[in-house]
Amino acid sequence: MSKHIWVIAEKRKGTFHSSTYELLGKAREIAKKIPDALVACVTLTNRSLTPEMREKLSEQGSDVILNIINEKFERFDYLTYLKALESIAEKFNPEIILAPATTTGRTIMPALAASLKTGLTADCTGLDIDNDGNLLQTRPAIGGNIMATIKTPNHRPQMATIRPKTFNPLTEKYSKTAIYHEIIPILDISDKTKLIEFKEISEDQKSIQDSEVVFSGGKGLRKPENLEILKDLAKLVGGAVGASRPLVDSKWIGHENQVGLSGHTVKPKIYIAAGISGAVQHVAGMQTSDIIIAINKDVNAPIFDYSDIGLVGDAAEILEMLHRALKNIKE
Ligand code: FAD
Repeated sequence: MSKHIWVIAEKRKGTFHSSTYELLGKAREIAKKIPDALVACVTLTNRSLTPEMREKLSEQGSDVILNIINEKFERFDYLTYLKALESIAEKFNPEIILAPATTTGRTIMPALAASLKTGLTADCTGLDIDNDGNLLQTRPAIGGNIMATIKTPNHRPQMATIRPKTFNPLTEKYSKTAIYHEIIPILDISDKTKLIEFKEISEDQKSIQDSEVVFSGGKGLRKPENLEILKDLAKLVGGAVGASRPLVDSKWIGHENQVGLSGHTVKPKIYIAAGISGAVQHVAGMQTSDIIIAINKDVNAPIFDYSDIGLVGDAAEILEMLHRALKNIKE
């Protein structure tokens, strides 16, 4: 019997979050090392997938699409998601279950692992298969100072969440057309949860993970007012604002903007680190950005070891200059 590698898809407004395609790309790579492996994309929706959605999941690497349908799946519903995934996992017995380490993935996967009586490695940054067919799950440990590789030889399924922007989607379309199944599970759930309100993130609060330019600030900005320059810069170029952890801990900005080990991983085309020292836990979340520009008054700051362009000087002053220059170009 074929061994299923599941990717739990994350739906966003009639399409899928980029992390779904990243995981399908990685699943295809590891499938090569497992005899008879099939990559199955598991979607949880309130209706049939459109032909375009199926085609996209197919060309991004799915052999099979398992679309679980329930009226509650218009939005994330914890208990219904859990019960639905639990029931189909028991039926299909997958070898591996992967989900993005988004809020949804981080919420559902630990509960699913517990109910399937198996382990879970959260927030992985690397995946591979060993000679015995075990999934090697690599993630930072001990405050980001070491990388730990974990395997689960005695239990199945092997489960992991993976940070978005860690892997790349397939560069070429997958040649097979995925087989599409619809599953309407009968779920015995008492209505313990109720959706009271859904608040959408506004356009100007662009996600740091989806932006091509991220302006990040650290303690070297010195005061919260200086974050406003970063926000203005981000608005000017359609980018997003990131931050180091101390700024989030001081409540200058929300956790959704934190870059790093205990925040988010970003991979923009341009990452600007203003007044950030370059601690290993911060660098873990931004080092794969295409171009890194660092601004720091200390010429020996570790951030310069990772940057393509380094500017030595006062962060607020340099950001002001950059803001004036960009505004002039725009006008
Ligand atoms: P600092 O390290 O204090 O650096 C400030 C920098 O600003 C210095 O380099 C200084 O030279 C420069 N500076 C000062 N004044 C100016 C000026 N006027 N102009 C220009 N430059 C100036 N950190 C994260 O960022 N993200 C995480 O997800 C994260 N997770 C963590 C998880 C764990 C388990 C642990 C233990 C730590 C974590 N940290 C994280 C914290 C991390 O170790 C650092 O403490 C943090 O990144 C430092 O933030 P910073 O660079 O803003 O501040």
